[in-house]
Formats: sequence, structure tokens, C-alpha cells
Amino acid sequence: MKKNSATKDLQFDTKWKYAPAPESADHIQLKDRYDLFINGKFTAPTSKKYFDTINPATEKRIASVAEANAADVDKAVTAAKNAQSKVWSKISAAERGKYIYRIARILQEKARELSIIETIDGGKPIRESRDIDIPLAAAHFFYYAGWADKLDYAFPGMKTSPIGVAGQIIPWNFPLLMAAWKIAPALAAGNTVILKPAETTPLTALKLAEIIQEADLPPGVVNIITGAGATGAAIVNHPNINKVAFTGSTDVGKIIQKSLAGTDKRYTLELGGKAANIIFEDAAINQAVEGIINGIFFNQGHVCCAGSRLFVQEGVANEVIRKLKQRIETLIVGDPLDKNTDIGAINSKVQLSKIKSLVQAGIKEGGECWQSECTVPSKGYWYKPTLFTNVAQSSTIVQEEIFGPVLAIQTFRTAEEVIEKANNTPYGLSGGVWTDKGAKAFKISSKLNAGVVWANTYNKFDPTSPFGGFKESGVGREGGLHGLMPYVNLF
Ligand code: ADP
Repeated sequence: MKKNSATKDLQFDTKWKYAPAPESADHIQLKDRYDLFINGKFTAPTSKKYFDTINPATEKRIASVAEANAADVDKAVTAAKNAQSKVWSKISAAERGKYIYRIARILQEKARELSIIETIDGGKPIRESRDIDIPLAAAHFFYYAGWADKLDYAFPGMKTSPIGVAGQIIPWNFPLLMAAWKIAPALAAGNTVILKPAETTPLTALKLAEIIQEADLPPGVVNIITGAGATGAAIVNHPNINKVAFTGSTDVGKIIQKSLAGTDKRYTLELGGKAANIIFEDAAINQAVEGIINGIFFNQGHVCCAGSRLFVQEGVANEVIRKLKQRIETLIVGDPLDKNTDIGAINSKVQLSKIKSLVQAGIKEGGECWQSECTVPSKGYWYKPTLFTNVAQSSTIVQEEIFGPVLAIQTFRTAEEVIEKANNTPYGLSGGVWTDKGAKAFKISSKLNAGVVWANTYNKFDPTSPFGGFKESGVGREGGLHGLMPYVNLF
């Protein structure tokens, strides 16, 4: 593994030094133990089992959460089914919208507390939970609240009816935001919900359950239950679930797709990715370098649309790689609660060992590995920003999703070559194009088999914009009008 040889020419020898600026966590309110949120009440699990959720930056326990078994799932589905047919479908659409607006406003009021909880439960830097996750979660509730009484305009010339009960399963990388992506359109369209957060990041979903109580939503309209894969499978396979919305790994997505085959359940799947970020010689290089950093290193690479493959046109490859290394050495890795931190903790021990084994595979296959010289705390789960050069299209590091701060760099000569290489993956979630020429940006993006392509920027989200994948990255779209469609029957 190469250490820093290429950064000897750093224009600055030392990092900018910032005094620690930790966000205070004194005011957050968390219970020591959380039950399941079913039919408007926190209810002890039939299983009588609880598991701990820990802070990945300190390895300390934060709270225990209930493990829902099939009987608990059945209670939640029954509550949702009754609420859908007897209450939620009976009230006016404008009234439904009011409830969703209320959730949005309470989310905004509690934004600071929610950001801190997101950061201690998941390991992501406070800057990201504060500036991205929580505001965007509130924005999605606001956006879909607006559609609740305008569904006839959303789909002109057509009438809509709700699907029924939605089973929603979300991952650990954007816990509250993923909950918002799923719950807000479902409610706006008149459906009721059972949501299961990931087992390593359940806390903001449980805080959302408290917010839903505070917003006085009719009991059973939103049920939030915790547990691991078996709980998720019980939701997917429950006969009274009418629609499944899943975000997570491609492997689990395939299991879900198989178990839904032959049923009349609707589904959307948002799965893995291996996005290509493409830099042409005519790009604004400093801006592109910043975009690559944003695309793969912020949030520890824990983003399904992370720009984990970099393609640089040959003429600027040396410059880009040198600048990238320089910039990486200035990134601050450490306490996620510190407002200066760029890269926080890896979400779990399991995820850390997955990153390590994929990096080892990359080295074994002959890839040249470079890592930042930064120091990381001794306790907790951390991974230094890592670059790979000398990799082939067939390398494990180029083909497999890593979900960590690891970037595989390849060079190219022509546009045709890079399109071919960028599309040579089983995934197709996202991509990035960096060029000075607008027409080129459009031409290249239209040839990339990816659901989202950013031009001269990366990882930008908005509730009005649809998101979703091609190929093994998934089925269906979330966000915008497209995100309402999976929750309505059109006739
Ligand atoms: P990741 O690899 O990102 O952790 P997973 O696909 O394993 O993603 O998990 C995403 C979500 O899916 C989590 O909430 C997890 O508990 C849930 N899950 C895992 N296995 C299953 C399954 N077989 N059926 C339904 N949900 C599952």
C-alpha cells in the first residue's frame, strides 16, 4: 500500500488546524428502550426481545429497540389495514395534506435534535445530517403534502385511488430521509404504512413515530416497527401488504423480488450502485476534484449513488490524481459530532470488515492502493479515504459496490470508450459528467445507463426530482410525481 509519496509536493505541509467544535448532545431526548409503534401507541413486542443500537464512533450503547416477530408484523398490518379502509381513505384529501404538513413542520422544529440523533446512531458527520438529511426529509413531507388534494392534476384526465397498505423497508445510510421518501408519498395518496428502519439506525424513525403522535395522526395510519432481516421478510410476505417499497442491497432486493413473484403486490426497489464520475479534459478541474470528493468521501461513501468509479481523460489524469490526493489530505476524519468533520464513522463493524476485505481483494488483484495519512480515533469504526489506480474493468474494486470511502480510478481517451466502460456494470443508479461544453454534457448523460446523471456537480437532491435505477440498481422511481405513481391506482 503506497503511503503519501505523491503528496510530497503538497503546497501546504500541514492541514488547516481547527479547534474542536463539537455539537452539544445534552438536549436530545432519547428513551433507554423503545417499543414498537403500532396503532398510534408504543407497544411491547410479542417476541419480548430487544436489541441494542450503538454509536459507531464510540462503540457505546445508545438505547435498546424492540425486535418485531411475525405476530407483531401481523398486528401492525392489521392496524394499517383498518386505518386505511375506515379512516384515512374516508377523510378529505385536503385534511390528509394538513396532517402531512404538520409532520413537516414538527420535523423542522426538531431539526437540531434529529440531526444529532442521526449522527450518533449512524456515524455520519453532523454537517451532513444538519444540512442535508433532516432539511431534505422535511422538504419531502412539505412537497407531498401539497399533492394530497391535487392528485387529479398530478395525473391529468385520470382518477386515482390508493393502493392500500404499504410495507416499507429502509437502509442505514440516510435513515430519516429514506423514511420521508417512503412515508410522505404513500400518505399523500391515501395509503397507510408499516415502516421498518435498518437495525443499526432505528432511532430517528422512532423519533418520527413520536412526531407522528404529536401531529395527532389517526392511529394505525403510520406504524413503525424495528427488527432485522426476518422482520423485513415478514412485512414483505404478509398477505395484507399491497405494496412493498424497499431500499437496500441488490442481494436482498433480489430475494424480495423472488418472493413477490406471482403475487399481485406492487413494488419499488432502490438497490446498489457503482456510479461512474467522468472528467473530460475541458472540465474545470478544481471544481471537478471537489465534486469527486463530495461524491465518494463525504458520508464515508455510504451512498448508493456514490461516485465510486472515476474515469479521467488521459491528458488531465496526472493533474486530477495529484489534486485529489492533496485535497484528501486536508479532509478531517473523526468525531462525527464535530462541525468541522468531513468524514465520520463507518456505520457498523460488519460494514467496516466488508470494506476492508474488498480493499484487500483489490490489492491482491494488482491494484495500486493509496491511503490518506490521516489519523483515526482508536475506538469506533473508521476507514481512511482510499484511492485505487492500475485497476481493470474486471477488477473486484471496479465491479463491486463497496459502500465505503474507496475510489477506483481509470483513464480513458475518447467519449465512446468512456461510455462503454461506464456502462459496463450490472448497476445503473447514477453518474456524473464534468465538461466545459453543455452539449457534450447532454450527449454523454443521455448515453449513460443510469437513473440520475449530474453534470458539473454531484449528489444533489430535491423532492421534485425522481430518483431510481436501471438494471440491478432497481425498479421504479421515488421523488417527484414519479414517486406518487407507485402509490396510486390510475383509472
Ligand atoms: P445493507 O447491505 O445496505 O445493510 P440490506 O439490504 O442488508 O442493506 O438491508 C436493508 C434493509 O433491508 C434493512 O432494513 C434490513 O433489515 C432489511 N432486510 C434485510 N434482509 C431482508 C429480507 N430478507 N427481507 C426484507 N428485508 C430485509
